[in-house]
Amino acid sequence: DTRTAAAVACYRQSTFVMIKPDAMQRAGEVISRIEEIATLRIADMRLVALQPSMARLFYAEHSQRTFFEDLVSYVTSGPILAMRLVGPDAIKVWREALGPTDSNEARRSAPGSVRALFGTDKQRNAAHGSDSREAAGRELAFFFKDTVDGICSTSEPLTELSCL
Ligand code: GDP
Ligand code: MG
Repeated sequence: DTRTAAAVACYRQSTFVMIKPDAMQRAGEVISRIEEIATLRIADMRLVALQPSMARLFYAEHSQRTFFEDLVSYVTSGPILAMRLVGPDAIKVWREALGPTDSNEARRSAPGSVRALFGTDKQRNAAHGSDSREAAGRELAFFFKDTVDGICSTSEPLTELSCL
């Protein structure tokens, strides 16, 4: 029936995760948190030096916010680790593991969460997770469009052209 079909579709849900520059020093610990969530599987992973033009595209929804240029500087301040996670309800499961956007708030309301453990404040919050299926599709295409079964199909570094 339709509920079974929905459950099957949901089982293979993908979400996009980024370990942001401030947490790269502890990337192993963030990955361990992912591994502790038994239903999530890391299906793809890529180390990326995000260029400012790409960061602006990735965060285009925030382009009118006062913090936009600070955000772009932050996510381009060092390499990031991009990942595709797959599993039942992966988008929601990972957003819950992340905790709220502000790491200080996360330490109050979600003490064991990734942002509570590895983030600093409202901006430097350690990691990203897609917030919807639409966002997951867009964000995964942005970082993994030129990969086939997790293997890079070109030897070119990730550029704006390969992610649009
Ligand atoms: P997320 O979906 O929980 O990552 O939060 P948003 O989509 O609202 O914001 C995207 C990212 O922008 C966050 O993860 C933070 O790194 C940063 N950010 C969000 N709100 C603020 C803010 O008020 N000030 C600053 N400096 N950065 C923010
Ligand atoms: Mg968001």
